[in-house]
Amino acid sequence: MGLAAGSVAVRAVAVVSVASAPMLESAAHAAADELPVIELNDVRKVYSTGQFHVEALRGVSLSIPQGEYVAIMGPSGSGKSTLMNILGCLDVLTSGRYLLAGEDVSMMDEVDLADVRNRQIGFVFQHFNLLPSLTAMRNVEMPLAYAGVPRERRRQEAQIALERVGLGDRVDHRPGELSGGQQQRAAVARALVGDPALVLADEPTGNLDSSATADVLDLFDELHQQRRTVVLITHEADVAKRANRIIRVSDGAVASDESGADRRIQ
Ligand code: ADP
Repeated sequence: MGLAAGSVAVRAVAVVSVASAPMLESAAHAAADELPVIELNDVRKVYSTGQFHVEALRGVSLSIPQGEYVAIMGPSGSGKSTLMNILGCLDVLTSGRYLLAGEDVSMMDEVDLADVRNRQIGFVFQHFNLLPSLTAMRNVEMPLAYAGVPRERRRQEAQIALERVGLGDRVDHRPGELSGGQQQRAAVARALVGDPALVLADEPTGNLDSSATADVLDLFDELHQQRRTVVLITHEADVAKRANRIIRVSDGAVASDESGADRRIQ
């Protein structure tokens, strides 16, 4: 199961970050430096459908400081998507506590979660989720439009974001006129444009050939160098090994959590 892609596809523009602060500055969250970007404490998620109760997360505790590049791995059914949906404020937890950039989102309702999501999280999806009728520029501008940023500034910021991902000469192209790798780079630009605390990527290379995969992973490396906080879900070891921390999920719990040179790639 993907990152709630079905429910998000139709409103992709609404789930990307919309904060209106000056964008794309490296180490942009200096004030929040001391706080972990993600703090989960004994998070549980139970899906109840009629007589069935599935405990998809069984008490997950995690702390992810700013600037980490984390890969979440695990076999099918282990709870990765559930965890990602909770991290992305796309679903509510059953019990436990979730602080996102210091803000307690555990008990928020849908409306407040949508607001936090828009301010704090930039999403990158396996299938890009760009609007096909809009140019790259308009796609990247869209979160800023939702945030009420004036048109001229939107254009300037989208232009900068597209240049930063190497698409400065493709701003007027529609998604269908871009390669898969270019579409994903445009999606990364859209994820970054509001300067979110967290970039959350669900199998971002799952739909790309090997050369475009290399390209997009290089871009994530750059985000890491700029001290962006990046969490990505992947089942590919080659993708995960680019991260500086690998968290493996099994049966709804964290099975291993390894950083730096200690992380094992199987
Ligand atoms: P993964 O992403 O690792 O494949 P998921 O998070 O999708 O795992 O699923 C974890 C467990 O929760 C599985 O047993 C799955 O069947 C169950 N599950 C996921 N979503 C739902 C849902 N909406 N309703 C009921 N059970 C669900």
